[in-house]
Parts: sequence; structure tokens; C-alpha cells
Amino acid sequence: SGINFDKYDNILVDVSGENPPQAIMTFEEAAMCETLNRNVGKSGYVKPTPVQKHGIPIIMAGRDLMACAQTGSGKTAAFLLPILQRLMADGVAASRFSEVQEPEVIIVAPTRELINQIFLEARKFAFGTCVRTVVVYGGVNTGYMIREVLKGCNVLCGTPGRMLDIIGRGKVGLSKLRYLVLDEADRMLDMGFEPDMRKLVGSPGMPSKEERQTLMFSATYPEDIQRMAADFLKTDYLFLAVGQVG
Ligand code: ADP
Ligand code: MG
Repeated sequence: SGINFDKYDNILVDVSGENPPQAIMTFEEAAMCETLNRNVGKSGYVKPTPVQKHGIPIIMAGRDLMACAQTGSGKTAAFLLPILQRLMADGVAASRFSEVQEPEVIIVAPTRELINQIFLEARKFAFGTCVRTVVVYGGVNTGYMIREVLKGCNVLCGTPGRMLDIIGRGKVGLSKLRYLVLDEADRMLDMGFEPDMRKLVGSPGMPSKEERQTLMFSATYPEDIQRMAADFLKTDYLFLAVGQVG
């Protein structure tokens, strides 16, 4: 892509929490599988952005993460790449049709546009792997979306309301869930989704925070996000702030 990230090279980065892993300087250092490397190359990504340099090794190491970085800083790949790499490394069951799907990954974002962008990126990065990604959001085509889910679903992307709906209908079980990503956490709060997020993490069958890896992303870090991070993340979570965080 034509985006110039060099301006980020000297940006202030703050990592707090115990024993953070060392940042990577290149995508090669992330030691991803060949397919993922190829897909990253095809995306035109030459080097990781700061939130990727720090976020990728943190997530690869299995740590919970609260990351704050401005819009456009590359947060999507910062969580998608390590999650996909871990799925590939640990082995993921090839998806197949079933009346109940048990995704390994759930990603939530506040709007149809935002979750669709994440879905498209995930599908791009997972191209050529056995990982199947599906997106669900409110409004249109409920039947179509449910059929897409039932065809097979390793990574389920959704808006909060639709995610709760599809779990509530019994179409999605949580017994295999290993990664929970809450993206645009500040906007989710602004849009009144805090009760939905709390309902989601409290859903019957949701693995406890000790049993899952939880990753939160936000452009800003107001007090109510700090409170949610404390509630949703393991006590030894790492906090990553890139640049000026409001
Ligand atoms: P954020 O979630 O922080 O707002 P995105 O993940 O949407 O940012 O990324 C913003 C844009 O930058 C997207 O078009 C994405 O494809 C691109 N991008 C992300 N990481 C890189 C990279 N390492 N090199 C080049 N482009 C990148
Ligand atoms: Mg984003």
C-alpha cells in the first residue's frame, strides 16, 4: 500500500506489565508459517508498524493485551497475524458443515463497516489455510449469515448484538473458544455496547478469562475502558500504548 509508516518510527511506545516479550523489528522475526508470510507480502506490508512490532510477540506469547493506538496504525494485523499463526501452529480442525459451530476465535467491533473490514483482512491473511472466517451483523440477511456460519466457522467476526443473537439461537457454541478480541473498545462504550460486551463475556459456556486469551484494542484509554480491561483480562495482562493516548 502507499501508506508511509516511517513517521511512526520514532513514536513513543509504552509497554507496562510484567515480563513483556521483546518487540520484533521485521515480519520475519515473527516466524510465521509460509502461507501467512506470503499473504502478508501480497498485502504489500513490508515492515511492521509499532503496534504490530510490540503486539505480535505479546499475543504470540499467549499474553492478554490492552492496546491503545490511534486509528490507522495497523491494529487489525497486530491481532490477526499472531492469532492465525497460533491457530496454524497448534492445529485447527478443518471447518465443516454442522448445525452448531464452535469457533476458536471471536472478534467483536461496534459497526457493520468496522467488523466487515476486519473480516476482509482476516480472510485475506487466512487465504490458502484451512481457517474459515465468517462475519455477522445486524439488519440484513439473517438467514444467509446463519447459513454461512453453519458451513464452518473458525473465526467469527460480529457486531455485539448480532454476536449475542447467534449465540443465543444456539448456532454458535463456545467450547473451543481460545481467543476473544474486543476491537474499538472506546467506540463500543460510546455506542452503548458495554452491557452487550458484559453479556458476551458472561455467556453460558464462555471460557473464563483464565481459560481464554483476551485482547482489547482502543484508540483512547478513558477510565471506563480501564475498568473493563481489569474485568475482562487476566491480572498479568500487558498494556501497550503507542503515541499520544487520550
Ligand atoms: P487501525 O485498526 O489501527 O485503525 P488498520 O489495521 O485498519 O488500522 O490499518 C490501517 C491501514 O494500514 C490498512 O489499510 C492496512 O491494510 C494498512 N496497514 C496495516 N499494517 C501495515 C503495514 N505493516 N504495512 C503497510 N500497510 C499496513
Ligand atoms: Mg481498527
